[in-house]
Amino acid sequence: MILEELRQKVLDTANLLPKFGLVWMAGGTVCARDPQTGYVIVTPSGMPYEALTASDMIVTDINMNLIEGKNRPSVALNLWTGFLLARPDINAVVHTHSAYATAFSVINESIPIITETQADWFGQPIPVAPYLSVEDKRFSSLPVEVMGTGFAVLLGQHGPITVGKSLEHALERAVTLEEAAHTYAIARSIGNSLIFTDQMARSSFDYYHNRYGQRNENLD
Ligand SMILES: [Zn+2]
Repeated sequence: MILEELRQKVLDTANLLPKFGLVWMAGGTVCARDPQTGYVIVTPSGMPYEALTASDMIVTDINMNLIEGKNRPSVALNLWTGFLLARPDINAVVHTHSAYATAFSVINESIPIITETQADWFGQPIPVAPYLSVEDKRFSSLPVEVMGTGFAVLLGQHGPITVGKSLEHALERAVTLEEAAHTYAIARSIGNSLIFTDQMARSSFDYYHNRYGQRNENLD
């Protein structure tokens, strides 16, 4: 079995999605690219994560040709590989159905930057891509275009997608996004929310990624 370590990391990340309350049952998807081979590892379609082992993950190339795996991959594999193809700077994609972020996709409203933690991880508001059926020709390209240079997009009437240079970063963004959406929903119900300007959000992001703490690591 090839890429055993990364297969296990994909599965470990998938198992954390229900633990963080971001998906239920077999919902969501985790996908990662191995930087050495360029191969893509993705969770199988419609199988509860708890029962899976590393051998249940599917390995394809970036054009979705099967390299190794016995299960059917996520039905939206063309979308996950679409993000990886468009963004050489990222290696991981996490998709969830977390309730508050999904609620904003239902009212078709982007999530502004409202807290410093959210600014640090995203640097710009989280847009909504219009709802598209998985069979629509634009399904694999439009959400990628809407996300642009950002790190998250809401699939209309479906749920959020977050990306990162590693699985850890894509997962942390999924958790941070849900926390921000939850906070924003509460804040709107009790008063007028203050919103970061684009410049405030960008400068917070730049500070966190370039100068914060002990590291000199780019967190993208
Ligand atoms: Zn979904």
